[in-house]
Amino acid sequence: MEIIINKSNLQGRIEADRLFQKETKCKWNYCSTDYSSVAGTSSKKGKLLCFRISQPSGLAVFGSKSSRSGRGDLLVGADGILSSIGQSILPDFKLRYTGYCAWRGVFNFSENDSETILGIRKSYPDIGKCLYTNIGSGSHIIVTELKKEKFNWVWYVNQPEPELKYDLTLGNKLFYSLQGNTTSVKVSSDMIEELHQRAEQVWLPELSRMIKETKDPFLNAIYDCDPLEKIIWDRVVLTGDAAHPTTPHSARSTNMAIIDAAVLGKCLEKWGPDHLYSALEEYQSIRKPVTSAQVLHSRRLGQMKQGLSIPGRERPFDPKTASLEDSEFILNKNVPLFDVVPPILDSIFRSA
Ligand SMILES: Cc1cc2nc3c(=O)[nH]c(=O)nc-3n(C[C@H](O)[C@H](O)[C@H](O)COP(=O)(O)OP(=O)(O)OC[C@H]3O[C@@H](n4cnc5c(N)ncnc54)[C@H](O)[C@@H]3O)c2cc1C
Repeated sequence: MEIIINKSNLQGRIEADRLFQKETKCKWNYCSTDYSSVAGTSSKKGKLLCFRISQPSGLAVFGSKSSRSGRGDLLVGADGILSSIGQSILPDFKLRYTGYCAWRGVFNFSENDSETILGIRKSYPDIGKCLYTNIGSGSHIIVTELKKEKFNWVWYVNQPEPELKYDLTLGNKLFYSLQGNTTSVKVSSDMIEELHQRAEQVWLPELSRMIKETKDPFLNAIYDCDPLEKIIWDRVVLTGDAAHPTTPHSARSTNMAIIDAAVLGKCLEKWGPDHLYSALEEYQSIRKPVTSAQVLHSRRLGQMKQGLSIPGRERPFDPKTASLEDSEFILNKNVPLFDVVPPILDSIFRSA
């Protein structure tokens, strides 16, 4: 049985190794996507560009211009929030822009114990001990301390949707920003200047200095989408952000992608190559209810923390007048099904 995993990064390949080779009893051949040998196009080297299902022989995978092709029995679309596999199956699929973007950066203080860092330590003693969240008026910022004396910060800012460019040459509505196949937006020096001015207005001097002194801040437009009705179609299955594009507020997204991969691996192992469809049905039945609830919860968290209007709610959330119920709702531990481990993964957790 040939499994094709549409994911080009190293982590994907390691996961695939772990799941499909070492931990499963039955042997699956898989090909994670270095599609350079399949797609063969210079501009999109390494990317799967289109595919078709040919019954009963299985799945055929092609690059856009190449006569060469790869074949397999199962195609795993693990290709992220802008999944080209998802868009091929659901041509009318649209992401929902949330109304805000995230400015992000890593502040490196390894080489100088600057006043900025002393000020932050003094004013925000909890930074470094947790996923530190500061909710302002219509905005919030997360600061986490990384190894080697660095702070990672993510500041969510309400703004109109940045202009993303559509790549019509691919003929499949795949869209991309000015920085490749991601929702990162190319930033100009004017935008960074505006960021610095805004930081001064919104945050205390310590945080605003940290933002100003961060080299090369970057910007992600934040999207999600209503839970899909299905995440499996014949011999195609979606996992991770491709299956459930989500806002990052539950701090669950990578975790969701990893659990998807683990559950899919276990379902394939349980049912074996002769019962592929049963394996996929079980994967969908385990993962879809959980990820759907988590995506919608995360959406609401974002709307609250950004002070946006929320359907069915009279007034936007305001941290200064928050009810006890609201204060509880925004705690990470209250993300639905936060600590539920699917029974099919018991063996992995027992052996860990
Ligand atoms: C601002 C922000 C903050 C976040 N914070 C957190 C957090 O605190 N905690 C958390 O858990 N998550 C967080 N996330 C989310 C997290 O980054 C994603 O949910 C996670 O990376 C999804 O993993 P994935 O494997 O599904 O997709 P990705 O990590 O996007 O991987 C998809 C891979 O597929 C490749 N690919 C795309 N198209 C093709 C193709 N056609 N052929 C071959 N390969 C292809 C891409 O190059 C990429 O390597 C955050 C996201 C954002 C935007």
